[in-house]
Amino acid sequence: MRILVIEDEDTIAGAIAARLRSEGFDVDIADDGPSGVEAAERLIPDLVVLDLMLPGFDGFEACRRIQRHRRVPVLMLTAKDTETDMLVGLGLGADDYMTKPFSQRELVARVQAILRRVRDASEPAPSAVVRIGDIELDRAARRVRRADAEVHLTPTEFDLLVCLVAANGAVLTRDQLLRDVWGYRDGSGARTVDSHVRAMRRKLGDDVIRTVHAVGYAIGDLS
Ligand code: CA
Repeated sequence: MRILVIEDEDTIAGAIAARLRSEGFDVDIADDGPSGVEAAERLIPDLVVLDLMLPGFDGFEACRRIQRHRRVPVLMLTAKDTETDMLVGLGLGADDYMTKPFSQRELVARVQAILRRVRDASEPAPSAVVRIGDIELDRAARRVRRADAEVHLTPTEFDLLVCLVAANGAVLTRDQLLRDVWGYRDGSGARTVDSHVRAMRRKLGDDVIRTVHAVGYAIGDLS
């Protein structure tokens, strides 16, 4: 598996590359937006770790260009939680976000979780179109419609919706969702769940996901 790290801070890029190499990945580094996009086209990586603030053009633009011809999993690095919220809201198409500073152990866990999800998604899903209220969820085609209108969810948002629907109204804690959707086992990243839930409510309607105070989330009562 080949990973491209696009990050202009040498020490961070070097530390990420060293840790990923020790986990058995082939790693390349680019240090600005244009050379990162060029490297992504040339090297065809299996995953890109992409810093938001870059010289040339930023990670936002780099993500858009990298994904123009080919869907590449992206783990975006941001400096603030508010930046992560904004990016999730914009539906940029990154698969996950990490706010600096982070541990290398957490980075590796997230990279492996993304690669696992990509692998799972490429296997044929159990058939069945699920209907809940006026929402239609096609797991094989990974498409969602609400009131007969197509709603575009990111891969992560789609998996989160599938997970909540499968729970059939039961409340899932943020830790359960992190484990089942993102594949994390250490409970880190609760804010990630909240950011994605906010984005999904904007796209599908506020009633689609119910917040259960101090516990977690459940699918809304849509019938
Ligand atoms: Ca930077």
